[in-house]
Amino acid sequence: MTTVKVRIAPSPTGDPHVGTAYIALFNYVFAKKHGGKFILRIEDTDRTRSRPEWEQMIIDAMKWLGLTWDEGPDVGGPHGPYRQSERGAIYAEHAQMLIDRGGAYRCFCTEERLTALREEQRKAKVAMPGYDGHCRHLSPDEIKAKLAEKLPYVVRLAMPKEGTTKVNDRLRGEVQFENAQVDDQVLLKSDGMPTYHLANVVDDHLMGITHVIRAEEWITSTPKHVQLYQAFGWTQPEWIHMPLLRNQDKSKISKRKNPVSLNYYRESGFSPAAMLNYLGMMGWTMPDGREKFTVAEMIDNFSFERISLGGPVFDVQKLTWLNGLYIRDHTADELATDLLTNMFNEKNLKAITPLIRERIDKLEDFVNHVGYFFAGDVSYSPEALQALVPKDKTNKDVSGMLAELLEIIDSLPRVEAADIDARLKALCEKLTWKPKEFFMPVRVAVTGRTATPPLGETMAVIGKERCRRRIRGAIAALKS
Ligand code: GLU
Repeated sequence: MTTVKVRIAPSPTGDPHVGTAYIALFNYVFAKKHGGKFILRIEDTDRTRSRPEWEQMIIDAMKWLGLTWDEGPDVGGPHGPYRQSERGAIYAEHAQMLIDRGGAYRCFCTEERLTALREEQRKAKVAMPGYDGHCRHLSPDEIKAKLAEKLPYVVRLAMPKEGTTKVNDRLRGEVQFENAQVDDQVLLKSDGMPTYHLANVVDDHLMGITHVIRAEEWITSTPKHVQLYQAFGWTQPEWIHMPLLRNQDKSKISKRKNPVSLNYYRESGFSPAAMLNYLGMMGWTMPDGREKFTVAEMIDNFSFERISLGGPVFDVQKLTWLNGLYIRDHTADELATDLLTNMFNEKNLKAITPLIRERIDKLEDFVNHVGYFFAGDVSYSPEALQALVPKDKTNKDVSGMLAELLEIIDSLPRVEAADIDARLKALCEKLTWKPKEFFMPVRVAVTGRTATPPLGETMAVIGKERCRRRIRGAIAALKS
């Protein structure tokens, strides 16, 4: 019997996501159940959006949860490198292999031609717009001539144009896709970088992945992957597409409706055990229906038969309730230790003291000064609410400005003092607001106060996650 080997393959393009933790948990539990291996592979082929800081945050968040891997970029292993950006030669070699086997072809179409084609298809209201196969039937001589001319090219999947591709999904049974509806996907870009599809399939094969357990949103890519396995002459892994986490309104979980960053939960003081317990309840149930369970108990009782496909709703209130049960499992001493370790620790205090040293005359003054550095949400007094909207601005102006600021903060791995100061200044200038009109609402939104230490430094200590949730809170307060 082959040993079970599973993986998560996150792309380091943003905050570590609860969805990644959810998929990681099910992979981890399945691997442990079967004495198998769990690996971490970083899919960073999108060079413009991937950043090492995001990768590090994914690693840190997974370690916080205790979902450790047997092979990965940080621990190595027999199938490395585990970062796709370091595997370029492997993909080039495999793209050539596919061309030789007739499963892929070189496409020399220019960007202009493709743009014109898209425009034509749009005008003609073509039902399934996509590549028209122009280069698919170039003769060997034509290809030779183009290569001699050093024309840039991409490599495309030679998708069969008739029939269907069957995906056998463990949770859904056989799912059929019409081949005519699947595009001749680009596999290798003109800069030699692979797309997700090629890199993902090649790596899953070379790394010996036996079960691909991933989110439902990838199922429409799977027929392309099945075709790739066939073209290479490789055995497919087993496909298991987990139901997507959803917002309350059943839409796909999104940062606009739910905090989705694991950093948010970590910094708010959720316990990793409660988080894992809650994620384990997303679409899966214990045989006895109990809601509070450990990962070890989940492993003991796990089977995919117990997964239900109706989209599980990620409900922060329910998670908070569950976390409360874990807090109450602590003895008072353990809780004190937890607070000393995770909140009132030396690192946090030393970040705050430089900011308030000038503002206190005796130690006890400290307490009244620093609530907003530790609290989650802040409340807005009538005075603060008034200061939130400068004289010549409307509620809508301010919430629009804060929404732009939210986008800026979202794009940063972390809030740093000098950097955020510069970005605030730039936004103020872009909006042509007077500095006084601009900085007061930002200050009030993130601290609940009209007077604080310098804004950039204060925001840096409060941190990205709290700044973000308070700005969201302020936007909500402006709307109500
Ligand atoms: N890189 C993909 C992601 O970010 C991996 C999807 C898969 O597991 O195949 O989720």
